[in-house]
Amino acid sequence: MALSNVSGFPRIGRNRELKFATEGYWRGQTSAEELAATAKAIRVENWKLMQDAGIDLIPSNDFSYYDQVLDTIALVGAVPERYGWEGGEVDLDTYFAMARGRQTDDQDVTAMEMTKWFDTNYHYLVPELGPDTTFSLSGSKPFDEHAEAMEELGIDTIPVLIGPVSFLLLSKPAEGVSERFEAVDLIEPLIEVYGEVIEKLAEQGATWVQLDEPCFVEDRSEKELDALRLAYEELSKVRERPRILVKTYFDHVGDAYGVLRDLPIEGVGLDFTGFIHEEGSGFGDAPFHEHGGRRNAEFIANQEGLGDKWLFAGIVDGRNVWRNHLEHSLDALDGLNSHTEQLIVSTSCSLLHVPIDLEAEPSGVDADLDDEMRSWMAFAVQKVGEVVTLAKGTAEGREAIADQLDANDRVRDSRRLSDRTSNKEVRARLESLDEEHDRRNSPFEERKQAQRGIDIPELFPSTTIGSYPQTDEIRQTRMKLKKGEIDWAAYKEAMQSDIEKVIRFQEDVGLDVLVHGEPERNDMVQYFGEQMEGYVFTENAWVQSYGSRYVRPPIIFGDVLRPSQMTVDWITYAQSLTEKPVKGMLTGPVTMLEWSFVRDDQPLADTCRQLALAIRDEVEDLEKAGVQIIQVDEPAIREGLPLRKDRWDEYLGWAVHCFRLATSVARDETQIQTHMCYSDFGDILEQIQAMDADVNLIEAARSRMELLHDWERTGYRNDIGPGVYDIHSPRIPSTEEMVELLHEAARVLRPEQIWVNPDCGLKTRTWAEVDPSLRNMVQAAKQMREELVPAS
Ligand code: GLN
Ligand code: ZN
Repeated sequence: MALSNVSGFPRIGRNRELKFATEGYWRGQTSAEELAATAKAIRVENWKLMQDAGIDLIPSNDFSYYDQVLDTIALVGAVPERYGWEGGEVDLDTYFAMARGRQTDDQDVTAMEMTKWFDTNYHYLVPELGPDTTFSLSGSKPFDEHAEAMEELGIDTIPVLIGPVSFLLLSKPAEGVSERFEAVDLIEPLIEVYGEVIEKLAEQGATWVQLDEPCFVEDRSEKELDALRLAYEELSKVRERPRILVKTYFDHVGDAYGVLRDLPIEGVGLDFTGFIHEEGSGFGDAPFHEHGGRRNAEFIANQEGLGDKWLFAGIVDGRNVWRNHLEHSLDALDGLNSHTEQLIVSTSCSLLHVPIDLEAEPSGVDADLDDEMRSWMAFAVQKVGEVVTLAKGTAEGREAIADQLDANDRVRDSRRLSDRTSNKEVRARLESLDEEHDRRNSPFEERKQAQRGIDIPELFPSTTIGSYPQTDEIRQTRMKLKKGEIDWAAYKEAMQSDIEKVIRFQEDVGLDVLVHGEPERNDMVQYFGEQMEGYVFTENAWVQSYGSRYVRPPIIFGDVLRPSQMTVDWITYAQSLTEKPVKGMLTGPVTMLEWSFVRDDQPLADTCRQLALAIRDEVEDLEKAGVQIIQVDEPAIREGLPLRKDRWDEYLGWAVHCFRLATSVARDETQIQTHMCYSDFGDILEQIQAMDADVNLIEAARSRMELLHDWERTGYRNDIGPGVYDIHSPRIPSTEEMVELLHEAARVLRPEQIWVNPDCGLKTRTWAEVDPSLRNMVQAAKQMREELVPAS
């Protein structure tokens, strides 16, 4: 026997209904009842879809108005004090206040912090806990949704909850609580509440409950493993309870395997993506995206198996858009089957991270996603089908799914042999690269001398990160071009006039190194992806990034090639307007990779190297066109770090290499700048140095120059612009406060190293904010210069 299960389904609605309903509610245009009705319709549609497809164990409580961690905060009553909640059921407005902050006549509270969900591009709300936090059952969402599915469709769903230990580990100390506070110390009072939850679920007839403990795919201490043990030993003692399934995803469980194996629970869920069973063949023998699937399989094989527990095998990848390799998966599942009493075929994680339905993409001759390319892909709906097929194949043998296996073979062949996925020229070029290729001609000190020809002040030069306010007018012009309402010439003229405005503004403010302002860019990855071969874009493939913000990540399907120049005309136009240097502005290879769906048929490093070559060619062309400074942004470099530390070196090795490959073509006289932001850079300082950019413009104001303490320890040899203006806030920083930040920087760094700049691009700000802020910033730079060289 083998049953089928899905860990969670996208909850945004096929036509983004949830976004429009929640945003309508926030604006006061949609009533609470209308919002609830929209939400219910989405849930019912999802359940019905999985029921019709033949999924045996269907999830509930995977729906959320905003975020599943926020749902848990509400469920256990961990509402921070500032929201003025007085116990009882957490109401919708308190819930949204935690998500978005609340500004009314008598209340002005900030939102809870949002941060990345493991190594995905989804963001969750961070629980704020402290020694005084108390928990109480304060919501009915899991019960209501289980009852709703029963009532509407007669399905006994598996309610999905964030597990108690991961909930604690995902938290941060509440305001005023010491950094030394350990949230796992709260495990006992928290399991009391979880005990109540599962007891109630049993009362209303739930057979199973799924508790997600993804934190155990990261390196964990003995104490944390003990908390895991304790939590589930206690929960298993609840007298009337459903069967307990503990699920993990995104990597292997490491030392937690032994704990899970020995716990008195009924099911364990592990991620097996990247695992190819010994007999497997096909796309090559190595698992390219090792999310730890192989390790999980080894635990099962070598550490006594799971006894009589049910194994939920996450074999259909919930993080990519490609069809499953059914033959490989069946091999893997057969291997696992011999070590477990009951095998459940499942997705590797919630399908929340992939778009809903391939069928929603326009088809036909004009479509970007043509029939062939479409046949290679699977979104959430298609993945549900794959789960069912694999369960059937495992239960009844391969003959039972012969047709599907056949079709699967054909599409894989079509993809593998396609001349669209592979480009000989690109491959030959990568082969021919030698060690010198990722190295600049001379060391930084010599390059700095060579760059003296560029007209910038020697001390505290000022610049910005690239984008200027993206006004409604700019967006509308872009829409008009897309819809064919205006032609390219009219579009170009509109953009050039914006560029001129941005140049004149910067001259007037007195900035030293100018930018063109990026008006022509819809998005820093999409803009370049659209001009490269190997990328495809979708119309409706929305994925939740956070709350009501959804994105359509581009898809890299084939070898990446830059057929022609991407930015040179815009930059040279901007340069033609001014005597001051205008810098070229590119997105780096690692960021291009991180913010796209990547191909699964070659190692990530290879895809990244192709991107690096494409950017390298643009760097070379900009230089030939006379551009003296080129910025290559890598805001996502820290995000790509694997969850397990033992794989960090490997990742960082190729990530740094790719940045260098993209930039090392520049002559000594050309200045390479980079920009990074909104990540914890403390653990990759050495690699940031190794990237060897001439100037690194790095976010620092928001964290009050915390980064400088790190540099204090290790030093930084090249030039650096620690951001002095927090662009996430509408407030206008004063000259004094920026001078103060620069003084702090000058205590750690040599004054000759320091640049003056904001934390990040300005595209989300208004002109009314940017204008005075930048004037103050330039003034701060001047003041620093005068202090060092007092005017005589
Ligand atoms: N150059 C980009 C901009 O200024 C960088 C954006 C980013 O770091 N995310 O908008
Ligand atoms: Zn940035």
